[in-house]
Parts: sequence; structure tokens; C-alpha cells
Amino acid sequence: MENNNLSYYFPCTYLNNLPIEIGGYTINMIKTDILVIGAGPCGLFTAFEAGLLKMRCHFVDALPIPGGQCAEIYPKKPIYDIPGFPSILAGELVDNLMEQIAPFKPGFTLGERAESVEKQEDGSFILTTSRGTKLQAPVIAIAAGLGSFEPRKPPIENITDFEDKGVDYIIRDPQKYAGKKIVVAGGGDSALDWTIILADIAEEVTLVHRRTSFRGALDSVEKVMDLAKAGKINVITEAQCVGLNGNGKLNEVIIKQKQEGEFPKVVDNFIPLFGLSPKLGPIAEWGLNIHRSAIEVNTLDYSTNVPGIYAIGDINTYEGKLKLILCGFHESTLMVQSAFKHIYPDKKLSFKYTTVNGVNGFEE
Ligand SMILES: Cc1cc2nc3c(=O)[nH]c(=O)nc-3n(C[C@H](O)[C@H](O)[C@H](O)COP(=O)(O)OP(=O)(O)OC[C@H]3O[C@@H](n4cnc5c(N)ncnc54)[C@H](O)[C@@H]3O)c2cc1C
Repeated sequence: MENNNLSYYFPCTYLNNLPIEIGGYTINMIKTDILVIGAGPCGLFTAFEAGLLKMRCHFVDALPIPGGQCAEIYPKKPIYDIPGFPSILAGELVDNLMEQIAPFKPGFTLGERAESVEKQEDGSFILTTSRGTKLQAPVIAIAAGLGSFEPRKPPIENITDFEDKGVDYIIRDPQKYAGKKIVVAGGGDSALDWTIILADIAEEVTLVHRRTSFRGALDSVEKVMDLAKAGKINVITEAQCVGLNGNGKLNEVIIKQKQEGEFPKVVDNFIPLFGLSPKLGPIAEWGLNIHRSAIEVNTLDYSTNVPGIYAIGDINTYEGKLKLILCGFHESTLMVQSAFKHIYPDKKLSFKYTTVNGVNGFEE
């Protein structure tokens, strides 16, 4: 099975790839102490608290970048209720968390959705992602927020035939489009920002939007219009992509423009960027107690009904729950204490302040 996982975008020094045999195939297994599903702010902070207790974390996230809602929905909005920061941009908070956890060298498997979990005889879990990556850990921390962000797809009848064969809903690696002819569809920040970035990478970029005005940030709209005026990109407004053609691989998008009607455009890739909507997805099938799309936990340690699986941040529910970042930080702090006892039932855990002990990161 092809495996394009993006683990290599971030330092993953604890990948400990152990080849295992499954169904006649040799698969590299990523092993860690705490497997964190979701690299949003609450998930990320887990790597710090776990690191203080000498436990390693590896993250799996369906998005191609860490940061969860802060990175995907509102990176440029200020947050005013992070203790010690009168105001901090959501994107900056993510950058700071990444810097704070760096000494503990967490691993990242990005752009892959956690699909299924199997309990092993030794009590550990093997998780399989949407791209077939296998990861093993004695503890799973689900920090999946509102769920996995699923792309909103345009209503083109045969679009699924061309998924991963020219149609991409998420840009994982912009260099993939070097020298390619691209049609981007959409009118929000994502469509505008990627059009600007791809203008320097792709051979030809065409932005298709169904209105004349765009919803994105004003300076991004201006940049796109300047690029169009300079002849570096094409912008087609009052238009929609209504058909796709190709033989096993996409090679033509049919565009319908209000005045000109339908016409074909030769392309290598079609990238519809109409936003992402969160769905609990496969986690709902893992035998966990779920209430209104959230995972029920014991507030003593944020454990679920399955020993060894915990849930923290927006994804969990309990009496008095508040979906706030600072609450998720508290939950991850208590959760790792319990995870330590689960992994090392015979070891004594002594509590120490960072002011006393400092932050002793991992050497490799
Ligand atoms: C516009 C807006 C403003 C906000 N303002 C504030 C504020 O001022 N203060 C505040 O405290 N909070 C605020 N929030 C809420 C805050 O963003 C959330 O509480 C916080 O992001 C929750 O963090 P998390 O780590 O639990 O989950 P998230 O940030 O939701 O991250 C979850 C991650 O899990 C991933 N994921 C889910 N399912 C899977 C799967 N099956 N496989 C792989 N990955 C998966 C997702 O892709 C996502 O990246 C705001 C939210 C929004 C939308």
C-alpha cells in the first residue's frame, strides 16, 4: 500500500520503526508511549506534560498542519483568556506550544485520519490511519476536538472517481504542484491564500469563484487581483466547475461561466477549497461511551470506559464541561498522571515543579 504520510515534515525522532508482518505485507510500526489523536492546542500540550514524566508522544492529525481549530479556523484572531497572555493570536499560541513541546521531540503523522483501533494481548493498542500507517502505544489520548475536519465537496457527479487522481481537497505539500496546471475553486481565505502560494510554484493557476466578490481577507483579495492583472494567474468569477473528465487521471475541468456558458480547461489538478466541516467520524465506532457526539469521561483523570483510552479537550463531555483551551490544558495535565500509572503500575510518581526540576528534554 502506498504510504505518503507526512511524518517527515516535523522532527520524529522516536519513530522506532519496527517492521511487522500483516496479511503478507511488511509494515513499519511507529511506537510511542502516548498516541495523541488530534494536534489541536489541548493535544499538543499533552506532549509537554507527558515529557515531564519521561513519556513520549506521537500525534496523528487529519489536517496537514498542527494547531486544530486555532490553525484551521481562526489563526489570525486574538484569544484573550489564555492565562498569562492578555492577548495572543491563535496561530501564535500554536507556534508557542510547538516551541514548548520541542524538547520532548514528539512525532507527527499529519494529513491522516485515525480510522481503527485494535487492542493487543499485551494491553497496548494498534491504530491504523486512513493511509494505512500503523502506530502502537499502551495509551491513547483522544484530543479530536470537534472531530475530523472533512472537506465540503462541490456537487460534481463523478468527483470521487478522481480523488487522489488529480482532485485534492487539502494541500499537503504545495511542491507537489510544481510545473502543473491547476484549477482552484472557492472564494474564502483558503482558496485565496493557496492561489497566491501556488502562483509561484505551479505552471498555471486558475481561480474559479461563483461570485464577483470574495469572502477572504482584503489584502489577500488585493494580492490575487494584482497577480491576475500581472498575467501570473487567471481569475474566472461568476463561474463554477461543473464537470471533470479524464481517463484514470484527471485532465479536464468543465467550467460554467454566467456569460460565456460551459467550456473545458486542460488541468493536472483540481483543488476545490470550500471549507472543512468537522465530523466525529470513525471514533464513534471504537466502543466508547458517546453522548451527543462527545466522549464521556471520568473527571478524576479523563479516562473513558475503555482502560488505556483517555479523552481531553473539546471532544470530551462531563457535567459542567466548558469547551475552552485552558480547560483542555488542565485535562491533559491530570490525564498524563493517570497514563503514567497505567503504563508503569509499579513505579512511584513524584510530583515536582518545573521551577525546581527545569525542563529536561529528550536527547533523541
Ligand atoms: C472562532 C473560534 C474562536 C474561539 N475562541 C476561543 C477563545 O477565545 N478561547 C478559548 O479558550 N477557546 C476558543 N475557541 C475554542 C477552542 O478553539 C477549542 O476549545 C480548542 O481548539 C479545542 O482544542 P482541542 O485540542 O481539544 O481540539 P481542536 O482544536 O478541535 O483540534 C482537534 C484536532 O483533531 C483532529 N482530528 C479529529 N478527529 C481525528 C481523527 N479521527 N484522526 C485524526 N485527527 C483527528 C482534527 O483534525 C483537529 O486538528 C474558539 C473556537 C472558534 C471556532
